[in-house]
Amino acid sequence: MEIKRTIAYEGELDKSLLTRLSALPEGNLIRRCIQCGTCSGVCPLSIYMDSSPRKLIALIREGFGKEVLSSFTIWLCSSCYSCTVSCPQEIPITEIMYALKRMALEEKTYPRRFPVPVLAREFYRMVFKEGRNTEALLVLRLLAKTNILKTFSYLPMGLNLMLTRRLSLKKEKISRPSQLRKFLEAIKEVGK
Ligand code: SF4
Ligand code: SF4
Repeated sequence: MEIKRTIAYEGELDKSLLTRLSALPEGNLIRRCIQCGTCSGVCPLSIYMDSSPRKLIALIREGFGKEVLSSFTIWLCSSCYSCTVSCPQEIPITEIMYALKRMALEEKTYPRRFPVPVLAREFYRMVFKEGRNTEALLVLRLLAKTNILKTFSYLPMGLNLMLTRRLSLKKEKISRPSQLRKFLEAIKEVGK
């Protein structure tokens, strides 16, 4: 489904997202977009997106930041870099997608119950706390927060994997997770 929004007055537009992206390394290059559509043409996932990469950039520049940060597009991007290497204006589209994902997670504007952002958030939380990801627990959390009814349909497969010792509920943990937490906090500060 395409992103649609009508406005009555130009004053309803908000270009703060463009300003924030422009402050990031090479983010200012977004202003050079000539809307040629090459990025959308080479993107293997644009047919599933609610707005193509070209349109997403147009929306950012025109002041539809709220729609962009709540779109499915940024979560469907698989970071294949096809758009980035093909863009005639050398715009780092993939990095822009990453920045938008970070902002959507921080501001909790991502589509509710959509598995991709929920998985990203839960994975980060688990690694931040324990220093490692426990696959079985991660899957359980993902299902609980996206579609709890699906948990039951996955039970036979999960049990099979456990019986063959390819999946375990035993929590994975590093010896000093507090050190990793300090490191991750420092990275977060640098990215602000
Ligand atoms: S390929 Fe580059 S210049 Fe062309 S529409 Fe996409 S971002 Fe804009
Ligand atoms: S990096 Fe993302 S937006 Fe760019 S072509 Fe690949 S999937 Fe599409």
